[in-house]
Formats: sequence, structure tokens, C-alpha cells
Amino acid sequence: MKQRPSFPAKLAPSAVKAVPVAPKPSGTPTLSALARPQGLGMDSVAVRMRMVELLRKQGVSDEAVLGAMGTVERHRFVDSALVNQAYEDTSLPIGLGQTISKPGVVARMLELLRNGASAPLGRVLEIGTGCGYQAAVLSKIAHEVYSVERLRGLHDKARENLRNLRVHNLHLLFGDGMLGYAKGAPYAGIIAAAGGEALPQQWIDQLAMGGRLVAPVAGQGPRGTGQCLLVLDKTPQGLRQVLLEAVHFVPLKSGLA
Ligand code: SAH
Repeated sequence: MKQRPSFPAKLAPSAVKAVPVAPKPSGTPTLSALARPQGLGMDSVAVRMRMVELLRKQGVSDEAVLGAMGTVERHRFVDSALVNQAYEDTSLPIGLGQTISKPGVVARMLELLRNGASAPLGRVLEIGTGCGYQAAVLSKIAHEVYSVERLRGLHDKARENLRNLRVHNLHLLFGDGMLGYAKGAPYAGIIAAAGGEALPQQWIDQLAMGGRLVAPVAGQGPRGTGQCLLVLDKTPQGLRQVLLEAVHFVPLKSGLA
């Protein structure tokens, strides 16, 4: 039997094929250009639809992702003082030094994770629940979602945010996501919302054959700086990985707090 090439725990730059990122069309409107919704009583459907249209103009074309982002009420996942900015393409503080990712980045990563699939994904693991927003979007495009958070305060906050949404296929877990979550493995998809120096071996082990992992990774720039998006596919021929555009995620940390 042909042996699968082993995967370096630390990504050696030479092991990674950089591919050019398609430039964004000039004149692309930004979500910040959106009129701000007026307080909590806003017509959030209309403003979300405008967010979706702008995501489309920014190059997101996966209808399943756009549909999910059009459904999940992002303003329910941010502090009341920030509700007016909930549909702008910006990351926002969610407490304990963490942030909710920009809608544009969430859409981009979910589109990469789905990889044009014609059906919903099977089981998916998310590392970094944060406020629970991306987990809620994931629950619309996957059969089963496991989401791990290492900060008790945010795990509890996500539980609170999701309480009334009755998302039956989403499991929130308090734990160290660097270990993955073996009980739910193997996963059709793994997505990380925090970036580390290296990909934990457990993530790769817990990925199903044919599965895809999307995560920010650090240390590819000069003197180990910078962070960019990594897409890794587990194929019968071995692991295939591609580095994409620069991103800015909070650090992946080990242990619980
Ligand atoms: N998807 C989230 C984004 C949260 S930011 C949202 O929609 O709000 C990233 C999160 O990753 C932070 O909450 C941080 O605490 C968490 N994180 C960092 N390292 C982690 C680890 N090892 N295990 C689990 N969560 C981790």
C-alpha cells in the first residue's frame, strides 16, 4: 500500500504552495457603506439582505453560504451598544479580548470549507466559538456542528446568544480546541477562528478522508510574522495544502481559562 506522506507539525514554507489571490474587482463597495440599522427595532431582514448583496459583490458566490448569512441575525450576537454596526464588514469586540469575525471573512471561509458541494456538509468542527455567530451560520450549511471554546465566559455567552434560536444540530463544547474533539470525529470539515504557529496534529487526524480544513496560520511572513488563510484537503493521495490571502485572527491558545 502506498504510504501517505506525513505532515509536518510546523508548516515549512517550502511545503506550502502559495497561490495568487484573485484581486478584488476595483470599485467593490464595502459593507461599511451600508446605511446603519436604527437600533434594536430595525428591519434586520432588509439590512441583512443588503449585507448579502455586498458579500456577493465582493466575490462570494456560494448560494448556500449567502443564504445562511442572510438568515442568521448577527445583531443578536453582539453587545447592545454595537448593534448599529452588526451588519458592517467589520470585526467587533465580544469581550475577554476576543472578536467576532468580519462577515466577509466568515463568508469567505465557509465558501472555502464547502468547496462548491451540492449537498450540506456532514459533521463539522469549529475551533473558537466566541459569541457563537459563525457556529450558527455553520449549523445552516452542515448536518452537525461541534464548536469548541476555551474561555468559559465566551462559551457561556454563546450558549446564551443561541438559547432562543433552537439550533438542534449545534453542540457547544467548553474545552481546548487545539486537541480537536475526538468524540465527534471524523469531520467532513474543520474550521478555526483563531490562528496558531502550527496546525495541531489532532485536527489533521480528526479530518475525514476527503475532508477539508480551513484555518488561519501564522508565521509565514518575514521573521515569522503575518497570518494567512490555509486550506488543507485530506485526499487518498495525501494532504494537499494551499496558502491564501493575509488575514487577522486572534491567537490560538492552549489550555482553558
Ligand atoms: N467564530 C467566532 C470568532 C471568535 S474569535 C464568532 O463568530 O464569534 C476566536 C475564538 O477562538 C476566541 O473566542 C478564542 O477564545 C477562541 N480560541 C482561541 N484558542 C482556542 C482553543 N485552543 N480552543 C478553543 N477556542 C480557542
